[in-house]
Amino acid sequence: RPNSLAARDAAFHLHGYTNAQKNEQEGGFVITRGKGIYVYDENGKEYLDGMAALWCSGLGFGEEPRLTQAAVKQMQELPFYHTFTQKVASVTVELAEKLVNLAPVPMSKAYFCNSGSEANDTVVKMIWYINNGLGRPQKKKIISRTKAYHGVTVAAASLTGLPGLHIDFDLPIAGILRTDCPHHYRFGNPGESEEDFATRCAESLEKLILREGPDTIAAMFAEPVMGAGGVIIPPKTYFAKIQAVLKKYDILLVADEVICGFGRTGNFWGSQTMGVTPDIMTMAKQLSAGVLPIAAVLVNQRVYEALRDNSAKNTVFGHGITYSGHPVCAAVALETLKIYEERKIVDRVRALEPVFLRELQRFREHPLVGECRGVGLVGAIELVKDKATRQSFDASLAVGPNLVRIAHNHGLIIRAVGDSLAFCPPMVISEAEVVDMFVRFEKSLADVAEWLKR
Ligand code: PLP
Repeated sequence: RPNSLAARDAAFHLHGYTNAQKNEQEGGFVITRGKGIYVYDENGKEYLDGMAALWCSGLGFGEEPRLTQAAVKQMQELPFYHTFTQKVASVTVELAEKLVNLAPVPMSKAYFCNSGSEANDTVVKMIWYINNGLGRPQKKKIISRTKAYHGVTVAAASLTGLPGLHIDFDLPIAGILRTDCPHHYRFGNPGESEEDFATRCAESLEKLILREGPDTIAAMFAEPVMGAGGVIIPPKTYFAKIQAVLKKYDILLVADEVICGFGRTGNFWGSQTMGVTPDIMTMAKQLSAGVLPIAAVLVNQRVYEALRDNSAKNTVFGHGITYSGHPVCAAVALETLKIYEERKIVDRVRALEPVFLRELQRFREHPLVGECRGVGLVGAIELVKDKATRQSFDASLAVGPNLVRIAHNHGLIIRAVGDSLAFCPPMVISEAEVVDMFVRFEKSLADVAEWLKR
């Protein structure tokens, strides 16, 4: 249909992660409105969004008049002001104070950005700046993990541990070190316990640090639960062991809470669920329930003092973004945090977790399913060619992406990370809707099983 929105999308729009050729052939998957946990396409077809859009629409779609009112009020009072040097809008100050008070460990200051990628890039530059100021400019390498996702800007993409984000771009930048992905199902040795696997990850980290020289390494980035790499939940003791190594060599730990923050894992922060004690945190997405773009970096007192001491010498930390702490976004974020508190969103996720995990684990015995993993209201089902050997399907079959497409027929939106299918529904989902989400998945999986037989 030449005048459909899908056709116009193909004609005029370039997508994030665009497959331009495919988009020309098929056009976009155009969403026109949302309500609750559902979104609707241009033909009025309803989809249960099992991914909260992109791990962000924690309060669902179009049912939060309070967020609209907060935005309108702020637009009327002060639609914009910036944060350069000492200028700032009052609402941005309020949000900074609120986030520092909500942090899982004592934090000192908040720095605002517009996206998770920018927040992680900001941290990289801040760490370099601080270590320069401390007279140790060589302590600038940064460790990140295989399958990590920290964003797409040049430093964040370098931290991301997915090769697809590096080829074509001459990335990673120099000084990024890669350590193990803590996925026991995929990388544990046969017969190795989760505990022993965690020990091996920590030993391998220590070897990397010693090989490179502890004096050359500034920080390690980690998502408490790895999201876009396939919802990977580390062994229980993993972070305790990793942090002991980092502490020994005076290496900062940066917790990327962009997906895990704001209740998603059954605590307010993923760091609490996974036993992470960060020096620096980054957050975005559910900070504003995905309604407006805003992200934040929190730094602890030690990091802040180093920054302050260097700025006394240099006069300025040479990094600022026009829309940092945008007042309208900050007002919506503040209202979002109020709603999370009033609705006891963490308790809600905890109450739903057993239902979510029960429904997820229902697929454990399915012949195409290798692993079902989840925590709070985020999880994944990994499909395999051979259950016994854990052999994956040939990538050219694109089993995961095909399942995602087939799921659209059953009114379900999920996300494929290779052949792992991710689930991250709005946190306002009901028990019955959780069950319904997995019924829709079951039908999609049955269709995929039929297709594979052909
Ligand atoms: N960090 C994590 C853990 C993420 O999942 C993402 C995005 O999915 C990012 C950073 C990047 O955030 P953004 O897409 O807002 O730049």
